[in-house]
Amino acid sequence: MPELPEVENTRRGLSPHVRGRRVTALRVYEPRLRWPVARNLPRKVAGQRIVRIGRRGKYLLLELESGTLLLHLGMSGNLRAVPASAARLAHDHFDLLLDSGLALRFNDPRRFGCLLYTDTDPRRHPLLAHLGPEPLSAAFDADYLFRITRGRRVAVKHVLMNSHLVVGVGNIYASEALFRGRIRPQRRAGSLSHADCARLVRGVRAVLRQAIRAGGTTLRDYRGADGLPGEFRQRLYVYERAGKPCRRCGTPVRALTQGQRSTYYCPSCQK
Ligand SMILES: [Zn+2]
Repeated sequence: MPELPEVENTRRGLSPHVRGRRVTALRVYEPRLRWPVARNLPRKVAGQRIVRIGRRGKYLLLELESGTLLLHLGMSGNLRAVPASAARLAHDHFDLLLDSGLALRFNDPRRFGCLLYTDTDPRRHPLLAHLGPEPLSAAFDADYLFRITRGRRVAVKHVLMNSHLVVGVGNIYASEALFRGRIRPQRRAGSLSHADCARLVRGVRAVLRQAIRAGGTTLRDYRGADGLPGEFRQRLYVYERAGKPCRRCGTPVRALTQGQRSTYYCPSCQK
C-alpha cells in the first residue's frame, strides 16, 4: 500500500510537471473508484490552471484556480506523468491532460483510490478534517505524543498507526520507528515516559525522512512518479526480518501479530 513517503515522492516528482500548467481535459475511463468520479468533474476542471500540488496525510491536493482535486492512491494506485499519447495500460482509470502535452495518468488495479473535488478549504473536507498532525511537522513533538498517550492502554504501535492521532505512519514505518525509538511495539502507550516519546518522535521522523530520500519502500504495486520502485526496502532494520539477526545487536528479530498486522522487533534493543 502506498504510504506517506510514496505519496510525498509522487508529489515531489509531479510538482515540476504540474505547477502553473493548465488542464486541457480530464478523461475518465473508469469512474468506479472507491467513490465514483463525479460526472461533471471534467467540465469543472477543464481550462483551469494548477496552482500547486500539496499533500495532507496520504491525500494529494491539486490546487486549482478554483477548487481543489483530492486524490488518494488507495491500496495499489499510482499517479504518473506520461506523454498524453502514451499507450494506456490495463487499470489506467483517468488522464488529467495538461497544456504541456503531458498527462497525469492514474493506474489502480484494486480501485480503492479516489478522485474528488471540493470548492471549499480542502482541510475542512470530511475526509481530511479529523486527521492528526503531520509526522514531519512541528506539531508532532514529544510533548504532543506524551499528552495523547496518557491513560491509553492500547499498544503504542496502534497509537502511531491511528490517523486521528498522527497521519501517515503505516505498518512498515511504525515497526521501523519503534526500533529506532528502542520501544517494543506491544508496550502500553500510557507507559511511555517523556524521554521515550522524544526518542520515538525522532524515530518516526528519521524513518520517514530516510524513506522519502530513498524514494519510498519497494512494494508490489507502488511506482513513483517516474515509474521506478523505491530503494528503501534494503534499509529496513526489522520489518519482514523475523529470525534474522538484528542489524544493531545480532539478536534474532521477532515477529508478532497485532490487530491482524505483522509487527517486528528486536527483543534486546527494544524495551
Ligand atoms: Zn537488537
